Amino acid sequence: MIYLDSAATSATRREVLEAMWPYLTGDFGNPSSHHSVGESAAVALADARARVAARLGARTAEVVFTSGGTESDNLAIKGIVLASPRGRHIVTSAIEHPAVLESCDYLVRHHGAELTVLPVDEDGLVNPADLSRAIRDDTALVSIMYANNEIGSVQPIRELAAIAHERGVPFHTDAVQAAGWLPLGLDELGVDAISISGHKLGAPKGIGALAVRARVPLEAVLHGGGQERARRSGTENVAGAVGLATALDLATVLGEQHAARVASIRDGFIDSVLSTVPDARLTGSREHRLPAHASFCFPGTSGEAVLLGLEARGIICSSGSACAAGSDEPSPVLLALGINPEVAQTAVRFTFSDDVTGEQLAEVAGQVRVAVASVRSLG
Ligand code: PLP
Repeated sequence: MIYLDSAATSATRREVLEAMWPYLTGDFGNPSSHHSVGESAAVALADARARVAARLGARTAEVVFTSGGTESDNLAIKGIVLASPRGRHIVTSAIEHPAVLESCDYLVRHHGAELTVLPVDEDGLVNPADLSRAIRDDTALVSIMYANNEIGSVQPIRELAAIAHERGVPFHTDAVQAAGWLPLGLDELGVDAISISGHKLGAPKGIGALAVRARVPLEAVLHGGGQERARRSGTENVAGAVGLATALDLATVLGEQHAARVASIRDGFIDSVLSTVPDARLTGSREHRLPAHASFCFPGTSGEAVLLGLEARGIICSSGSACAAGSDEPSPVLLALGINPEVAQTAVRFTFSDDVTGEQLAEVAGQVRVAVASVRSLG
């Protein structure tokens, strides 16, 4: 089997599991307990927090461990908007993950927020001039994703964040897909808050983090025992935090050169599919793209049928994002690019793990050609 759905989730790395193991067994304590078993867990949690903070360019007090990307996005959006002294206007983009869009929608429905949704161009990129025009005196937050899960497009985050800052507005970015592949530092990106999720980069499901600058007021979303400096109550997932820190460290060790190597393998794959599958069309930006992401529309097919055909040939991929899978509706992300609904139903996404090889993808490209031809011949 060749697994090409890493944007949906990845296997937990052996090193990550080994680092977590002690905190699920002998050192199983609750970090809030005032005895040696609890203290040992508290030390591990503090160490994990310091390592995640270093990778996110944050201070330790600025890191909140969460249950994953969805919770990080919810906390960033609800937490910053509800605490904002500026007002309740939010600016986001048309291609955000539902964790962002639904959080904004909740604030509109229950807290009187107003929402401006920025369009994207045919590559899925936000125009900085549109952001500039959208910001108002009562804008509490701009939230624009770093890289898109369905089409792989990477936004000009530094430029967008700088526009928000000129107007004194905090900027959050959902970096769930970018983590492990692109630079993440808060200062490097010029953002105030960044969401990441463990299971996209080799840690288990159920752990994530939000780093948010101390100067940005943040209202809690989960209330209870006051853990995570009262920003996220609930007994901490110590083993998960250790796993997230380890996964981030490993991704950083692989580094930029590795990302460049995977990007060049990706380019070979994209070229091969576009040149051998008649009418295949790349979705998302060719130039500003996640290194391990290739996505296409194959007009005259159904994405779901191509996916099944590939699975029968031992290749696992996705017909859209995992959250949209099973839905009959065309993807709102593809519609936002201006792709017509019929063509949007033909989308197939290939997202690689970091040990992908050019040989594997050459084989996959050949199988894609056969699977697409077979679906077209039936329909
Ligand atoms: N944001 C983006 C861009 C994602 O791709 C995902 C998951 O697919 C999420 C948020 C949600 O993350 P999680 O599955 O950890 O809740």
